[in-house]
Amino acid sequence: MAKWVYRFEEGSADMRPLLGGKGANLAEMTNLGLPIPQGFTVTTEACTDYYNKGKKISDEIKDQIFAELAVLEEKQQKKFGDTDNPLLVSVRSGARASMPGMMDTILNLGLNDVSVEGFAARTGNKRFAYDSYRRFIQMFSDVVMEVPKSLFERVLDEVKNKKHVHYDTELNADDLMGVIKRFKTIYKDKMGEDFPQDPKVQLMEAVKAVFRSWDNERAIVYRRMNDIPGDWGTAVNVQAMVFGNMGDTSGTGVAFTRNPSTGEKGIFGEYLINAQGEDVVAGIRTPQPITKLAEDLPECYAKFMEIANKLEEHYRDMQDMEFTIENGNLYFLQTRNGKRTAQAALKIACDLVDEGKITEQEAVCRIEAKSLDQLLHPTFDDIALRDGEVMGIGLPASPGAAAGKVYFTAEEAKIAHGRGERVILVRLETSPEDIEGMHASEGILTVRGGMTSHAAVVARGMGTCCVSGCGAININEDEKWFELGGVKFNEGDYISLDGSTGKIYRGDLRTRDAVISGNFERIMNWADKYRKLRVRTNADTPADALNALKLGAEGIGLCRTEHMFFDADRIPKIRKMILSNTVEQREAALNELIPFQKSDFKGIFKTMEGRPVTIRFLDPPLHEFVPTDDADIKALAKEMGLKFEEVKAKCESLHEFNPMMGHRGCRLAVTYPEIARMQTRAVMEAAIEENEKYGFSIEPEIMIPLVGDKKELKFVKKVIVEVAEQVKKEKKSDIKYHIGTMIEIPRAALLADEIAEEAEFFSFGTNDLTQMTFGFSRDDTGKFIDSYYKSKIYESDPFAKLDQNGVGQLIQMAAEKGRKTRPDIKLGICGEHGGDPSSVEFCHKVGLTYVSCSPFRVPIARLAAAQAAINDEQ
Ligand code: ADP
Ligand code: MG
Ligand code: MG
Repeated sequence: MAKWVYRFEEGSADMRPLLGGKGANLAEMTNLGLPIPQGFTVTTEACTDYYNKGKKISDEIKDQIFAELAVLEEKQQKKFGDTDNPLLVSVRSGARASMPGMMDTILNLGLNDVSVEGFAARTGNKRFAYDSYRRFIQMFSDVVMEVPKSLFERVLDEVKNKKHVHYDTELNADDLMGVIKRFKTIYKDKMGEDFPQDPKVQLMEAVKAVFRSWDNERAIVYRRMNDIPGDWGTAVNVQAMVFGNMGDTSGTGVAFTRNPSTGEKGIFGEYLINAQGEDVVAGIRTPQPITKLAEDLPECYAKFMEIANKLEEHYRDMQDMEFTIENGNLYFLQTRNGKRTAQAALKIACDLVDEGKITEQEAVCRIEAKSLDQLLHPTFDDIALRDGEVMGIGLPASPGAAAGKVYFTAEEAKIAHGRGERVILVRLETSPEDIEGMHASEGILTVRGGMTSHAAVVARGMGTCCVSGCGAININEDEKWFELGGVKFNEGDYISLDGSTGKIYRGDLRTRDAVISGNFERIMNWADKYRKLRVRTNADTPADALNALKLGAEGIGLCRTEHMFFDADRIPKIRKMILSNTVEQREAALNELIPFQKSDFKGIFKTMEGRPVTIRFLDPPLHEFVPTDDADIKALAKEMGLKFEEVKAKCESLHEFNPMMGHRGCRLAVTYPEIARMQTRAVMEAAIEENEKYGFSIEPEIMIPLVGDKKELKFVKKVIVEVAEQVKKEKKSDIKYHIGTMIEIPRAALLADEIAEEAEFFSFGTNDLTQMTFGFSRDDTGKFIDSYYKSKIYESDPFAKLDQNGVGQLIQMAAEKGRKTRPDIKLGICGEHGGDPSSVEFCHKVGLTYVSCSPFRVPIARLAAAQAAINDEQ
């Protein structure tokens, strides 16, 4: 018989895939002898089984759950559903990777109309018992039965208003009894039946709800954003309750062993006296800093600090802990390696190395490669900051600088972002439904909520700037305005947020580019020491190249040449070339372009100071260069001394039904070899001249795009070699050069062994290769990809994350075939995927020579490459 349920003492930290993160750590803490309310974990495999069985929990699983429940009853000396001394439990989700706010927890399960009285009598605290019951009804209805939370909140607000009080804690037992009555009526109205009184039914419904929640929309979106596979499933933890809401020597809190924002060593957290569960993070009452606990309950504080330190020592990483104090007794409810900003991650990793707790390799692997993105974002320009008008100040919840237009709903933020606007999302407080809108925003500003509020935690995870808890704001979300510092801001007005200071500025403050220094530099140096893959960049201009160099690029893997033709002084010349009727005319037009191309290449070679540069010859279909509307065509005709009709006809003749698969790439060089000739001359002359001038030893790499057959490549190569040799002779140079190809058509991957006879290097153009392998265009996926996510056909965008199963197979095969023909063949990748960590790992495994990515992703690729190499060794 399979084992579906594990008692905490049966598990351990390394059983995370089976028990989920929360369950595995509860088990580990139990075995460390820490004060953990006992319980058991229903495994992630049970979740998978639930889905496989058409969303049903099998009898076998059910039996094991109730068997463990009996063990728990024995241990706690309480009985589930007992009228005298009832056992109450929490039902908590916990997936393998932590998904904050994604899954829902139910507290106080086991209460019903009868046991609540027993509970009241036992604890001698009626108010507390009723408070627990009303919370349970509320949570169960919301989480399990999807009866909107707001219906219950409204009742609470009404009762408080009637009594002229602010807080739940000011309601007495009688008030709460009334609340419970009304809650149950709401339940019955909505569900058509009474609130379930049988605790076993409550429990099984709750377990099912946790399994179900694995597949709610929020969870799916979160998984897609964080690369979490859909088939992992979530575990369910059932745990005896402890109560933070028993009075003034009780409370609940969350804390980190180091500051999750800056990485500074030292305890950091918040707690609330006389509160339960989510009260701290929900921002309902403003919590106290954890250090205040030293005054309120000194013994608890000392014990808490002792355990916190022990946990950090044990896990050798910064811990994020949840605890509850019940009548002066401290319990730990959770620990995990804490989420942190990239800046904090770097500091913590370096500090742990300096403290002798982890190795350099471990430090490198501790940084989430994607998160470096946060550090490559701009900060405010010093002068802009000095002159900026501060309207108010909130909590510095997630660092960074953000300026943009204010929007008041996640939906509108998303839409504005789609229009290309920079967005600041302003909310009373955020909730999990806002995730996508938060993702679309440059910055998030909330009126309520502390450093551990939903907005703060999620923003830090995303690396988005966030200022939370700015209570001075007077907001009207419905009418879409807020007031701060005596100024009214409407939707669309600009504000700027400094997530490192919490300051809120009026207007659109100027920002400044980031640099790599300090801890960042240290980690990157370690990464460079351990990685095997080289990292190049995709850069078409000296400015891009320079940027990439600063971020550690070792060469250019893709220099596109088409962008060089769009400048106002060049486009007429390329148009002239395109509209030419004879080879002679075309050559004459191309000759005019040579000086421009040559100076472009010189600029890039000079910037790269002799590092390798791969130049791709003209790739796009020619129609991209010609005008489409009559006025422009008229102007062009006049300029060229041609008839309007003639030019128009010629432009129209360039129309293609499917330009992506049309007259482009090397096909241009096959039909118009003079284009390749011109480009070769420009490249060779530029390289020779820069070598002479600066003493570089550049060996230009000329890359032919869109090859699908060896003969195609051979044809173009011959044209290039002729001109290159000619230039060498003219310039009396013995410069070396290399000719290679992109592998971006599936046929080229299939025939890579033949193509390698002609190609000195391959560069996998995974954008086109993905399009052609899937048979859909990147520009058109927007129309259907969401349905594919919803129907779970795809979990991620194959243009962002390499499809290792399909496209990856082509890459692997082509790499092997290429190496067979030419053992020293240089292999690279130059699609968007070159900067995506999981794709970089794949490139390492396949044994590519380098990855090439956009300048801002260079540090991410360097780190991901090091992590792949280090993990490979282990
Ligand atoms: P999340 O994953 O969203 O943090 P948790 O399962 O950790 O959800 O539950 C949220 C909070 O509920 C905990 O931080 C804790 O305060 C409270 N809680 C959960 N289980 C118990 C319990 N057995 N006793 C007391 N409080 C609990
Ligand atoms: Mg938790
Ligand atoms: Mg291409």
